[in-house]
Amino acid sequence: MSEHPIIPFLAGVIVTLFVLGARWIVRRDKQARPLSARPTDPYIEGLKLLIDGKKPQAFARLQEAIMGGAAPTDAYVRIGRMLREAGDAAKALQVHKSLTVRADLTSDEKVAVYANVAEDYTALGHPERALDTIQVATRRTGLRDASLIAIAARACHTLGRTEEAYEYYKELKKSGGIGDREIALYLVTVAETEAKNGRTRDARKTLARALRHDAECAPALVAMGRLEEEAQDVADAIRLWRQAARISPDLAPVALRSLEKALYQRGTFNEIEAVYRDVLETRPNDEHAALGLASFYRKQGRMEEAVQLLEEYRGSNPTTVAGTVLLSSIYAARGDSDELETFLDRRDRMLPRDDRYRCSTCGFDATEMRWHCPRCNRFDSFARTLD
Ligand SMILES: [Zn+2]
Repeated sequence: MSEHPIIPFLAGVIVTLFVLGARWIVRRDKQARPLSARPTDPYIEGLKLLIDGKKPQAFARLQEAIMGGAAPTDAYVRIGRMLREAGDAAKALQVHKSLTVRADLTSDEKVAVYANVAEDYTALGHPERALDTIQVATRRTGLRDASLIAIAARACHTLGRTEEAYEYYKELKKSGGIGDREIALYLVTVAETEAKNGRTRDARKTLARALRHDAECAPALVAMGRLEEEAQDVADAIRLWRQAARISPDLAPVALRSLEKALYQRGTFNEIEAVYRDVLETRPNDEHAALGLASFYRKQGRMEEAVQLLEEYRGSNPTTVAGTVLLSSIYAARGDSDELETFLDRRDRMLPRDDRYRCSTCGFDATEMRWHCPRCNRFDSFARTLD
């Protein structure tokens, strides 16, 4: 299965070699300068091509360096990595594993070799072997390099050994690889799985741990709010969601929607006014809060306040579509026909837009903004997407 992607890649390499060779001959014939005959180091050339993003050409040059026999370890490491990226992790593993027996490796080279062997195993779908590789490497060499620890943490997560992954992340923090923010985000992902599997108590503990690492971790606050709501502790849920809405522009829509629902079910919907005001005080341009408050005013018949708020909001956000629609509807509704009311109600239901967020590394889709990817285990890889 892994054979297929390499075929067009190798074809590309051959074509490129041919083109390069032809170009070289043409140039030599045309110019016949002594300079063009100057010998070049294919390894250095390969690195330059890599920096320029010309991967197939770089591959060919590095291969040339290896065939020449005098290539440094780095050339092998790189060519193996390129094979892996081109889909041939099995061949990459062969290349990288052959390096582990070399006796003359520097510690940087050892780290690079073992990290790549582990990455090859990960790409081949063997996270347990990736983890073994790192454990053997750290035991044998005494190296506890950040890149090795990061791979071990990812492998543990894939294997469902989240407690070990957490320990690795804490170690990674000591070397400055990540901060408390990332550890908290990772724990939110862990808690989500625990909650999904009905392990509510564990999820609660994990989220409390996340908040000890980062008291302002908005997704932890939102998730903890959900657990409190399920446990019928709505007052706590409301407190947590309010905090999340204040802290995070990205999660404010989610938190505010939960708040709207909870307050409505509690029969204390009027409290939502203070919630929106709270958010607008920290972020005057928060669209969900501004439109939510205007809608609230409208429903209460406080039309002047609704109009004033929307005019102000539109003043600093002239491109707002939802704000314009709501405002013009209110102006029109002053004529008060039933049809316009229906239109307004329909628009209200449309207000919670179905935003989608996608991991740029692995394509994992989420309905809420997130900062840790549960699938590929990367941080800060999500962006809003339109499809
Ligand atoms: Zn991902």
